[in-house]
Amino acid sequence: MSYPNTQLFIDGQWRDSADGKTLGVFNPATGSEIGRVAHANRADMDAALASAQKGFEVWRDIPAVERAKTMRRAAALMRERADAIGHILTQEQGKPYVEARGEAMAAADIIEWFADEGMRVYGRIVPSRNLAVRQLVVKDPVGVVAAFTPWNFPINQVVRKLGAALAAGCAVIVKAPEETPASPAELIKAFADAGVPAGVINLLYGNPAEISSYLIPHPIVRKVTFTGSTPVGKQLAGIAGQHMKRVTMELGGHAPVIVCDDADIALAVKCTAGAKFRNAGQVCISPTRFLVHEDVRSDFVAALTKYAQGLKVGDGLAEGTQMGPLANPRRLTAMAEFMSDAVQSGAEVLTGGERIGSAGNFYAPTILNNVPTSARIFNDEPFGPVAAVQGFTDLNAAIAEANRLAFGLAGYAFTKSLKNAHLLSQRVEVGMLWVNQPATPSAELPFGGIKDSGYGSEGGPEALEACLNTRAISITNV
Ligand code: NAD
Repeated sequence: MSYPNTQLFIDGQWRDSADGKTLGVFNPATGSEIGRVAHANRADMDAALASAQKGFEVWRDIPAVERAKTMRRAAALMRERADAIGHILTQEQGKPYVEARGEAMAAADIIEWFADEGMRVYGRIVPSRNLAVRQLVVKDPVGVVAAFTPWNFPINQVVRKLGAALAAGCAVIVKAPEETPASPAELIKAFADAGVPAGVINLLYGNPAEISSYLIPHPIVRKVTFTGSTPVGKQLAGIAGQHMKRVTMELGGHAPVIVCDDADIALAVKCTAGAKFRNAGQVCISPTRFLVHEDVRSDFVAALTKYAQGLKVGDGLAEGTQMGPLANPRRLTAMAEFMSDAVQSGAEVLTGGERIGSAGNFYAPTILNNVPTSARIFNDEPFGPVAAVQGFTDLNAAIAEANRLAFGLAGYAFTKSLKNAHLLSQRVEVGMLWVNQPATPSAELPFGGIKDSGYGSEGGPEALEACLNTRAISITNV
């Protein structure tokens, strides 16, 4: 299976970095190097900044309806190329091909939604206190957006940022993940082939800290958007704050799953088991702290364990694989640390809890029961295929546990009672709550967290609003 080397994209040109430096890209299923990615230096960043400024001045003056047509062509190209892009994504990131192809297809949907929403950026006329004065509220693109994205959804994390920014009329510099570079490059290629003018989208790879610390303070950059861990997000938001830059932060999560005594257990298992092991648990909205009412805990845990044991783990390109390897060796180390801490704390390993084989980053789907609140896995984001279960008897105590952590990204709840559903929807402190269903993030819904999980949204009209300036203009007849 072929895998391309990845270049930078600046001013409408694919190019090597100014000093020719590259980094290796590795297949997490085998550990072998499959390609190289260009590593930008200061000269490349300066070129990307100048290009983005030029691109912004072109793109902002193209009517929204024309911008939408170009974006729709990019969406069509993503659909046409989804098979090939899926193969590339699986090779560099590890997720099963079905999930990888699905990510490319979902990107097309996200692009189309933002393309259309861009045509609905309305200002307003505000009645004046003086009839000679006409008062307008106008919305303009904020300018050049610097977007920093991670390796777990290499296409999705870029397209959410790109879709909103392009629809608003902004230009973008994307710093995409060095470990999974080729699939986001394919997304950018689709936009370029669709006719997005040179300079509107620029793509860099390199040293993340070097690039963010140069781009964020730079006067050409007017907005910063980041997806990644909470510590890095706080650092970048701090730099942005010092330079008064608009910010969207989509950070870590530790999603609680509250299963009430009256829940449909089969439904709860079906919804959360699929979500838990999707992308080997390396998902910011992955269900993680399972809080299960004592009356149903043994049934729930037995069914969840059976599901985990039945999963086919393997190379994402192999037929029938349901869970691939972890995306990088750091995750294997993290899993080993979580596991030894959990066991020492008294948690019971019902299945998994160890690496599979010695080649590739494979880790067994894992269910931990009786996990004490003090265990690290109940406090730090696991970002791996581990479900940690704890029982409860009082729903208010379960809600308090759900809210105990500083994270507030996603949450799940299962109950047949309207009263419980209302209570949960009012009291669980998360940016996204799914009741009696799996996670269904879509382009039209806000996507983002509260508390330490960040601020701003990567979906819905709110995502577009974050790329717009609101200005008041008063005009008087003379
Ligand atoms: P990390 O925290 O160093 O990196 C996370 C992401 O941030 C990477 O894409 C990295 O390139 C980027 N990054 C790091 N430092 C940066 C900087 N100074 N400027 C700009 N970008 C920077 O470590 P990691 O091992 O890649 O991931 C560890 C943890 O990050 C995971 O356990 C998970 O909690 C979190 N994470 C969250 C998401 C998400 O979707 N919210 C995605 C990936 C990782």
